[in-house]
Amino acid sequence: MREAFLQQAAALLGPKGLTDDADAMAPWLTDWRGRFTGRALAMASPASTAELSALVKLCASHGVPIVPQGGNSGMSGGATPDESGVALIVSLRRMAAIRQIDPAARTATCEAGVILQVLHEAAEAQGLRFPLSLGGKGSATVGGLISTNAGGTQVLRHGSMRALVLGLEAVLADGAVFDALVPLKKDNRGFDLKQLLIGSEGTLGIVTAAALKLEPAIAARAVLWAGLDSLAKARELLLLAQRQAGPALEGFEVMPAHSLAAVIAHLPGARAPLAGEHNWHALIELVADADGGDVLPARAEQLLETAFEQGLIADATIAASEDQAERLWLLRESVAPAERAQGPAVQHDISVPVDRMPAFVDAAVPAIEAAWPGTRAVGFGHLGDGNIHFHVIAPLGADPVAWQAGDGKAISREVHDIVTQWGGSISAEHGIGQLKRDELARLGDPVALSLMRRVKAALDPQGLLNPGKLL
Ligand SMILES: Cc1cc2nc3c(=O)[nH]c(=O)nc-3n(C[C@H](O)[C@H](O)[C@H](O)COP(=O)(O)OP(=O)(O)OC[C@H]3O[C@@H](n4cnc5c(N)ncnc54)[C@H](O)[C@@H]3O)c2cc1C
Repeated sequence: MREAFLQQAAALLGPKGLTDDADAMAPWLTDWRGRFTGRALAMASPASTAELSALVKLCASHGVPIVPQGGNSGMSGGATPDESGVALIVSLRRMAAIRQIDPAARTATCEAGVILQVLHEAAEAQGLRFPLSLGGKGSATVGGLISTNAGGTQVLRHGSMRALVLGLEAVLADGAVFDALVPLKKDNRGFDLKQLLIGSEGTLGIVTAAALKLEPAIAARAVLWAGLDSLAKARELLLLAQRQAGPALEGFEVMPAHSLAAVIAHLPGARAPLAGEHNWHALIELVADADGGDVLPARAEQLLETAFEQGLIADATIAASEDQAERLWLLRESVAPAERAQGPAVQHDISVPVDRMPAFVDAAVPAIEAAWPGTRAVGFGHLGDGNIHFHVIAPLGADPVAWQAGDGKAISREVHDIVTQWGGSISAEHGIGQLKRDELARLGDPVALSLMRRVKAALDPQGLLNPGKLL
């Protein structure tokens, strides 16, 4: 059966489209964080929607499970097969054409394998921009971003991926092509099925293409860095920025002193933006759209002046050039890689209502550090969205595998319990994957879980799409 399937798949996809070579597959069998490693029957790389549709039909007839994969930059192990070795990795990376950029309609129609950074550059070349960015932009693909409903650093103003997908094409579990690619401003023909596929982590269908919303390029931006005593003050600064800057406020990120120190140790040539020690740092981006670029610097200075007067910030700087602005953003985007280089940790991508975030962090950090002596808990990220990445770093010298399976697991349960008590979500933007599947089953609303299982059974009755993930 195995050989028959592989022969038919090879005939369908050609030499570039299928491999079971161990070296070729190795980089794609472990997730970005190195938490999960699996085995696969083979890795298929279809070149078109038609090829993928035929491949999925073949998988359905042979009962071969499929693990869809984009850039493999996901944080929840969703793109990593299990250890059975029976699943086929279906990589979308060869389907990487930007089919069209329509400047008048401000849309980009892309195949699933387009890398986010490539999309940014293509939009910029047309005087437009795709307003979603994240640290993994050099490898994350459009299909992966859609399937995880990714967020990033501009959600505050533009929403997460869900808000930016205008049309979608996907191959379903039986190989049928769901074609809702043409964006319609108004369309009330029943359920909005594309929204069901967005954020479904490859469990309901394989995204092959999307029509995405673009925005006009910005005329100018001001990037500010502020040092603060507490997260509560960062929250007040956020409110001030929202009042003063309104829609010009595009990003508001925070990191504690420990995260900045980790980045400086990790990133060659990196320097702290401010002199002196500060418990917390905020990175703020204000933008001017078509015009208003000339008043933007004054606006940024005014914001900092008011913040100083109100005692919210201890020190601050404004990037004097685009190069400096990029460097400030690089500090923020390097927190995850820097922390990964430091050693074992358990990560929690959590959200609570924005106004409760400072109190949540002030309560959760000491609770965790006291219960597991030697650990360090840090929260950083998207304060503007009520979403922080709450990481607990293992004590020095801890054995990575044993710690993660023992204390790490217990810590994650405790963090998720606390988040749930605070009315929050155990997955704000990274999805569930295999990392949080059991926790979702433990803490999720039973009615919502039952609905999700029924949807899954209806769309994928054989359970072949990304088994063992999410549900
Ligand atoms: C340094 C760094 C910073 C990051 N920062 C952020 C951040 O700020 N915000 C954020 O939201 N994420 C962030 N991420 C996580 C990651 O970039 C996103 O989850 C991204 O959406 C994953 O895209 P990918 O193409 O790598 O998907 P993969 O990792 O390959 O897959 C992710 C999931 O989507 C499924 N999938 C992939 N492609 C398809 C497809 N075509 N059809 C159906 N299912 C598919 C997979 O099966 C898997 O379940 C970061 C990652 C890194 C490395």
